[in-house]
Amino acid sequence: MSTGVAAGLSVRRELGTQDCGRAGPTLLVLAGIHGNEPAGVLAVQRVLAHLQQRDVELRGRVVALAGNLPALADGRRYLARDLNRGWLPAALQALHERDPASDSPEDGQQRDLLRQFERVVTTARGPVVFVDLHTSSADGPPFLCLADTIDNRDLALATGVPIILGIEETIDGASLEWFSSRGIVAIAVEGGRHQHPDTVGNHEALLWLLLDHLGMVPAAAAQPERQREHLKKATAGVPAIVEIAHRHAITPADRFAMAPGFSNFQPVQKGTLLAHDQNGEIRADYDCRMLLPLYQALGDDGYFLARPVRRFWLQVARTLRRWRLDRIVTWLPGVRRDPQDPLTILVNPIVARWFVTEIFHLLGFRKERKRGDRLAFTRRWSLPENARLSRW
Ligand SMILES: [Zn+2]
Repeated sequence: MSTGVAAGLSVRRELGTQDCGRAGPTLLVLAGIHGNEPAGVLAVQRVLAHLQQRDVELRGRVVALAGNLPALADGRRYLARDLNRGWLPAALQALHERDPASDSPEDGQQRDLLRQFERVVTTARGPVVFVDLHTSSADGPPFLCLADTIDNRDLALATGVPIILGIEETIDGASLEWFSSRGIVAIAVEGGRHQHPDTVGNHEALLWLLLDHLGMVPAAAAQPERQREHLKKATAGVPAIVEIAHRHAITPADRFAMAPGFSNFQPVQKGTLLAHDQNGEIRADYDCRMLLPLYQALGDDGYFLARPVRRFWLQVARTLRRWRLDRIVTWLPGVRRDPQDPLTILVNPIVARWFVTEIFHLLGFRKERKRGDRLAFTRRWSLPENARLSRW
C-alpha cells in the first residue's frame, strides 16, 4: 500500500471497538465525517490493529466510527449537505420530526451517527473523550480545535499540537457541538493536507498521545516520546495556541476564490491579497496568521485569520475560571445573566464596550451573537467527572 491516501474508501460505520473490560475512559474517535478526508479512517484503523495484534492492555474502551459512508466511498466531502453541520438541538429536532423517506444521504448518515453517539455515551463506565479527525485542502501542520473549557485545553495542551481557540464557536452545529453541549471533552483534529503522505501518521501519533495522556495504554505501547517527536517536527515554527480573530464566511453567490499559495498558520502581513470575490480584492486588515484557506469546491468558510495567544494569558484564564469569576461577571456594568440560560450573559455593547470581548473570552464566554440590542455570550461547561481524566 502506498503512503498516500487513495480517494474512495469503502468502510462500515463501526471501524472497531477495543475493550479489555478494565475501568477507564472511553475514547470515541470519529473519522471521515467529510468523505474526502479518509486519512483519519486509516489512522484509527492502524491504531486499533496495533492494539489488537499486540494484545495491548487497555484501560477503558476505544470506539472508532466512520462518518459519511457514501461520501467516503465517493471520495467527496459530502453528497447533498455537509454532515459536519446540523448538530444543534433545533436542527436535530427538525431531523427527528422529518419523515425518513425524504432523507438526503446525509440525513440518513446523521440519524445513524446519533444512534451510535447515544449508544457509546450511555454505555460508558467512565468519562468520554470525543475526537473528530479531519484533514484540510491546504498544506500545513496539524492542529486542534475545541470548545474553550479548561478540561479541553488540558487534554489538548498535553499533546503539544497547536490549539486554535474560537474556531469551534464560529462554526454552528459541528458534530463537536453534540458532545460539548453535554459537557463531554471533545477535540477536533486537523491532521494535514488530505493527500499528504504524512497526514495519516500525524493522526496516528496524536491518537497514541491521547491514549498515553489518558492513561489508557502502557507507555511501551504508546511510545509517547516518539509520537511527540514526530508531531514536534510536523508543527515546527507554529505558535502553541492561537485565537480566531476573523472568519470569512462565503456563499456560492460570492464567487469566492482564494489567492493561491496560502498554507495553515502562514504569517500574513497587513495589506496582503487574500482572495477575490464578486466585489473585487480581499486584503488582510492587520498582521495575522492564515487558517483553513479554501482550496476545494465545497465549503462555507473562505478562510480564518488568527492571532497567537501568550502562555501568560492561558494561566490567567485558568486562575480566573478556578475562582469561578464567571459567576460575578454580571457585577460589571451593562452585563446581566440570561434568565433563560445560566451559561449565557447579555451585554449592553454601549455600556460595556471597553472590556467586552477579551474579558469574556478569558472567563470562557466565547460564543458571541446578537440578540436585539444586546450581545449574548455563552460559556461552555464540563462534566465534573472530566477532572478525573488525567488521573486514571
Ligand atoms: Zn473535515
